[in-house]
Amino acid sequence: MTNVVDTLIVGAGISGLSLAHALQKEAKTGSPLKILVAESQGRVGGNITTATAEGFLWEEGPNSFSPTPELMKLAVDVGLKQKLIFADRKLPRYVYWQNKLQPVPMTPQAMVKSGLLSFPGKLRALFGALGFVAPAMGDRLSQQGGEETVSEFFRRHLGTEVMQRLVEPFVSGVYAGDPQQLSAAAAFGRVTKMADLGGGLVAGALLGARKKPPLGKGLKTVADPNVPKTKPGELGSFKGGLKALPEAIAANLADRLKLNWHLTRLDRTERETYIAVFSTPDGQQEVEARTVVLTTPAYITAELLQPLQPSVSSVLQAFTYPTVACVVLAYPVSDVKQKLVGFGNLIPRGQGIRTLGTIWTSSLFADRAPAGWQTLSSYIGGATDSGIANLDAAQIVQEVHRDLSRILLKPGAAQPKVLAVNVWKRAIPQYNLGHFDRLQQIENGLKSLPGLYLCSNYLGGVALGDCVSRGFERAQFVREYLNDRSEF
Ligand SMILES: Cc1cc2nc3c(=O)[nH]c(=O)nc-3n(C[C@H](O)[C@H](O)[C@H](O)COP(=O)(O)OP(=O)(O)OC[C@H]3O[C@@H](n4cnc5c(N)ncnc54)[C@H](O)[C@@H]3O)c2cc1C
Repeated sequence: MTNVVDTLIVGAGISGLSLAHALQKEAKTGSPLKILVAESQGRVGGNITTATAEGFLWEEGPNSFSPTPELMKLAVDVGLKQKLIFADRKLPRYVYWQNKLQPVPMTPQAMVKSGLLSFPGKLRALFGALGFVAPAMGDRLSQQGGEETVSEFFRRHLGTEVMQRLVEPFVSGVYAGDPQQLSAAAAFGRVTKMADLGGGLVAGALLGARKKPPLGKGLKTVADPNVPKTKPGELGSFKGGLKALPEAIAANLADRLKLNWHLTRLDRTERETYIAVFSTPDGQQEVEARTVVLTTPAYITAELLQPLQPSVSSVLQAFTYPTVACVVLAYPVSDVKQKLVGFGNLIPRGQGIRTLGTIWTSSLFADRAPAGWQTLSSYIGGATDSGIANLDAAQIVQEVHRDLSRILLKPGAAQPKVLAVNVWKRAIPQYNLGHFDRLQQIENGLKSLPGLYLCSNYLGGVALGDCVSRGFERAQFVREYLNDRSEF
């Protein structure tokens, strides 16, 4: 028997769930839409993976979120206002440089005093920020389609030291990426736009701030008195971990959500609808939908679209997702060199440390470890270390334990309690050179498939807040498309 719906959403990660929530919410005010969310796993959340055991609570995917207005509004809408928690935004972040943890300078004054950069390095950064920047030129740039890599852009603007000691570790922390391959404009759009305004990054930031619409204009979510106010730099989660959000959205979807439904084929019909074929515990199921939103990762979407739109499929194949392991280890606090007060530490390459960075999990949010224990969540692998994919879990733990022993642990610290080793074979999409061209080709190719939308983290922003905003935006497109067309 074929189910018939207005909108089929494939994937119940944060992208698919935000979109479903927005469509469902609009339905309360406008004409109700029949929607179905189909998820191949037996749980919702996708990358969001909160786990608990023996009094510990940890994350194996994303650790926290930046409280964007849309994400905050979503959390409040689904009844999580009282469960929101925020880490102290003043908690320092550290970079491990030349055998020392150095605080990341967050203000110009801190930058002057910082031991992370040499005096010439600081002067170079200052002059660059003030606009003494050589123009981007050369054959290499034209070979790259006029785009600069993250490495090229930041070296030119702020110098090699800022690039190596601040930007590169930050790139590891967000993308687990390679600054020599990532597109500066795609991965750091806000910063490159400041430079485009002319006069260096400082002038660009000031001009950009002047051009910003007054707070709240055009963003109903900011003005909503029900949504708690947050400050820049704050990081959020929920009591019970990040999974509280997908689970709360899923609870509202009730039987409009199907778990263990794996999309195997998608066809287009003569009456301009789509037929989706699922493998489910109850056998094969078919759904006919007027609109379909694929929130699956690029490499899966590529397979699904191959028969329908081979050119879009081949563009999607070009997105790379490096392997990253999330290793969550617990140590008795007596084994840690000092009381850890901070967000965590990142490690530039070339320091003899393989781990990319460590979040001091139990220092960030309260009640995440039993008294006397320190939980450390480390990320290892990424675009510059593909060899991590060849190690087994025990070997990965030993790599991380050895690195932690150098940075955070007392000599002779015992082996840790291993809470998790989650190897994300394909972790985070890389916004490498050519990213915008790829997005344009996808948009052009999808014109031949009206009513079919993509909504996933390879499209423009990997952070949870970006996924929620994109989900809300795509919901609007879907609604407009359906409004413009008659019913079945
Ligand atoms: C290790 C790691 C750490 C991160 N840290 C942070 C962080 O601290 N803060 C932050 O903001 N962001 C972080 N991110 C990024 C963020 O978590 C992701 O960008 C976001 O969760 C992606 O959500 P999504 O819904 O687009 O995709 P996904 O979460 O991948 O969801 C896609 C869903 O589609 C389902 N699916 C796949 N194929 C099929 C099929 N054939 N049929 C049906 N369903 C299917 C999958 O099972 C999955 O549930 C991190 C990501 C990773 C991997």
